[in-house]
Amino acid sequence: MKRVTVLGSTGSIGMSTLDVVRRHPDKYRVYALSAAHNVERMLEQVREFKPEFAVMADAQAAATLRAQLAEAALADVTTHVLTGEQALVDIASAASVDQVMAAIVGAAGLLPTLAAAQSGKRVLLANKESLVMAGPLFMQAVRDGGAELLPIDSEHNAIFQSLPANFAGDFAEHGIEKILLTASGGPFRGYSSEQLQAVTPAQAVAHPNWSMGQKISVDSATLMNKGLELIEACFLFHCQPDDVQVVVHRQSVIHSMVQYCDGSVIAQLGQPDMRTPIAYGMAWPERIEAGVQALDLFAIAQLDFEQPDHQTFPCLQLAARAFQQGGSMPAVLNAANEVAVSAFLAEQIPFHAIPRVIQAVMHSHPLTAIDSLDDVLNADQWARQAAQCCVSERGWLEDSPL
Ligand code: NAD
Ligand code: MG
Repeated sequence: MKRVTVLGSTGSIGMSTLDVVRRHPDKYRVYALSAAHNVERMLEQVREFKPEFAVMADAQAAATLRAQLAEAALADVTTHVLTGEQALVDIASAASVDQVMAAIVGAAGLLPTLAAAQSGKRVLLANKESLVMAGPLFMQAVRDGGAELLPIDSEHNAIFQSLPANFAGDFAEHGIEKILLTASGGPFRGYSSEQLQAVTPAQAVAHPNWSMGQKISVDSATLMNKGLELIEACFLFHCQPDDVQVVVHRQSVIHSMVQYCDGSVIAQLGQPDMRTPIAYGMAWPERIEAGVQALDLFAIAQLDFEQPDHQTFPCLQLAARAFQQGGSMPAVLNAANEVAVSAFLAEQIPFHAIPRVIQAVMHSHPLTAIDSLDDVLNADQWARQAAQCCVSERGWLEDSPL
């Protein structure tokens, strides 16, 4: 029996994770759940999975949940309700936890995800932002803590499945030429720069193939999701942006590929359903049923591939640039993106301002080395303030070359 902590259990990935757990009560038991403020959904989850701990990031939400649980007086539920960052770190690193699903969205996921790595858990990494922000520190924590890092992002999970089982970071040793990172292209694939100026938050969050949280849906629409994934791939698989070719593949059937020197390309295919990579990560090296329908190749009939449009969607190249500059820049890119996406969702800036805010913030950032978690958090804070300023003072209207 594996005991699992689910960070971000009320979100899209969190709920898919609990669905896999639900299908295998003989294999997995929920140790702790966590969420920001959705008390209603957390209450349902606590009733069903009876965890030892439920952590609400929001103190008011924690108080409400505690009161509702007391009122319900459920005989078989002994869940302790906690709040605060330390509680998140505790449920991610507790001695009795085997696996931690890192599915909080954004930089808020960094501390508990890092804690899970440092304490040697199997880390099921959905929260790509924590790896982007703190890549070298995070990978070091995995090594020092003896953790198992299983990528849950569908592309990285596909790459993991397509690499040799004993791959330890050396492309040449295994005859690996390239990683082919697939991208759906998002809801605005094929749009011109002019067309992008008028798109609304509602259009941006309506992804054609995947049902996801709001932030990652906007990231998919700007292609920043692919940019973050490019950085994620470089850290996870010990390579450079030049070793990764982004391939726009609108059907999202091939989840990514690895190209070898003998001409072979190994791919992983499947439905666009996150329960497949989640189940793979939880059961690895075994496989378990995930509730996902078999792929019907005859119904799909056709797979298309095209080059990404870097001109219209500059976020991908901003991310490659941030990785190459290294140090604090990936954390700055990530924080500026989070602020810009929130501002777009709040209708404070138009869609095409998102890459401009990020570019302006990166341009004005004095690059620093990252030697500690404090360095990461300082870069994150600096970039949030700079991005907020850029949003409120409309700094994105000016042209700022990188
Ligand atoms: P979501 O918005 O649906 O869910 C986010 C979860 O995080 C919720 O449970 C929310 O309560 C919690 N949360 C938010 N802010 C928090 C805070 N400050 N403190 C603690 N908890 C907080 O997002 P999602 O789509 O499930 O994505 C989660 C992560 O997984 C993201 O990093 C995303 O990039 C990654 N991911 C998602 C998908 C997908 O298909 N949804 C695919 C690949 C990777
Ligand atoms: Mg992905």
